[in-house]
Amino acid sequence: MKIEGQSMHCLGQGSNAFTVLMASGGTDKKGGSGGKRGSKSSSFPHPWQQWLYNIAMSPQDYVGTYKSMEYNESCVWIKDSYPKGRHHFLVVARDPSLEQPSDLRRRHCGILKRMLSYGEARTEHLRNLGVDFKLGFHSIPSMRQLHMHVISTDLTGTGLKHKKHWNSFTTKFFLDADRVVNALESDGQLVIDRKGCEDMLKENLKCFKCQDEFKTMPELKAHIVRCKTER
Ligand code: AMP
Repeated sequence: MKIEGQSMHCLGQGSNAFTVLMASGGTDKKGGSGGKRGSKSSSFPHPWQQWLYNIAMSPQDYVGTYKSMEYNESCVWIKDSYPKGRHHFLVVARDPSLEQPSDLRRRHCGILKRMLSYGEARTEHLRNLGVDFKLGFHSIPSMRQLHMHVISTDLTGTGLKHKKHWNSFTTKFFLDADRVVNALESDGQLVIDRKGCEDMLKENLKCFKCQDEFKTMPELKAHIVRCKTER
């Protein structure tokens, strides 16, 4: 399937349903997984990229920092510190071998389903009040340790400031969690075309309701709260 002039496969299409943007230049490079707390891996070399990993490995150390944090043996629930929607949470996997979506295999469907159910259960009260959420992953995350975004679809959060923020939630760069599960069940793994995904972050700014284009984030943010177009 072709998207925006690039040859790539995308979610849920065709028989080989879930090659996510087939790699154009090799697979993810990363160092060993499951390293010790705070250790570096080549996909996530910076200290700031280790924060979610550190929380996942030792959530008990962060209870005071994150008032609404919850955790169990398989995942941690926290509020996103730089929310891109009015409500924005993260479900962080605790398995140290899961750094990012490209690490997922068929055998991880169980943990993914638990993360999905967890996110749905924790937002039930808001959804009962009419708040819509999307649950899923950034195909190329910025932070180490697999984390599922649970984000209200308004995309009016105070942390949403840049084009790449917007496009990371409105284009196929965002991998819906239930489609990830379906793809793993059928194909066994995800293959991520980094170049294709990175190009999506550079696409023109577009309202996800009416599809009008905008030059700047402030213009788009002012528009999005007024746009009445039904999706
Ligand atoms: P991603 O692009 O999928 O790696 O998203 C990482 C998310 O983590 C972003 O939405 C950030 O706002 C969020 N984030 C970054 N640092 C922290 C932190 N210290 N605590 C909670 N959330 C964070």
